Amino acid sequence: MNCNETKKLMNAYVDGELDSVSSLSVESHVQRCALCLTEVENLRALASAIENGSLRFKAPLRLKKNVQAAIRAANPSARISIFHWRWATVSAAAALLVVVFLAVTTQLAKSSEETLLVNDIVSNHVRSMMANHLTDVPSSDSHTVKPWFGGKLDYSPPTKDLAEQGFRLIGGRLDYLDHRPVAALVYQRNQHFINLFVWPSNNTVVKSEDQLTRQGYNLIHWTSSGMTYWLVSELNSTELNECARLLKE
Ligand SMILES: [Zn+2]
Repeated sequence: MNCNETKKLMNAYVDGELDSVSSLSVESHVQRCALCLTEVENLRALASAIENGSLRFKAPLRLKKNVQAAIRAANPSARISIFHWRWATVSAAAALLVVVFLAVTTQLAKSSEETLLVNDIVSNHVRSMMANHLTDVPSSDSHTVKPWFGGKLDYSPPTKDLAEQGFRLIGGRLDYLDHRPVAALVYQRNQHFINLFVWPSNNTVVKSEDQLTRQGYNLIHWTSSGMTYWLVSELNSTELNECARLLKE
């Protein structure tokens, strides 16, 4: 490294802003070159003079008072001095940062909570078919299924039979989702099974999308009259949508 190259990097070197390789190059040149060493020392002296305030211009108190008086004269209703305004701006910016931070983290927490819930719904659906535990109360009669939930849940899930429309109610089951026991109503469409999970809606679950596909299963979600509904099946989305539409009616 020669003198010209060193001079270009000298300010950054004194301010400690160089990467270690460049910093070492400058340092090794400075150790061999008295001219550059002098410049580095001058720069360091200047930097420390600014740092300790001996070169900093401080407005006299008189000037500050004159400025404040001038502002008051121009606008008598202005009670807050510009010096307070500066702090108000800083506080507002800090408050905004906090709000944005909270909004982002809350949103992240909610969306990861929903991801967990969706995974649980799919797992419960798969397990209900694998473990041969599709229904606790096998019945196509909604008047049998509905009272069966009576002693087991603190709410009464709607139990609609849609046999005439091609979605036969085959029974109900108690399941566990969103940290609580929930009603699972099981429908059959040809050889396909559909789980409808129902529980009273709360604000912990954000409805970010109505329809989604996870691990090859279609899910449809809606809320109605204080209840959360999740429909899940390997059935194609067109037919599952039809089922959701009938249930919502
Ligand atoms: Zn030099």
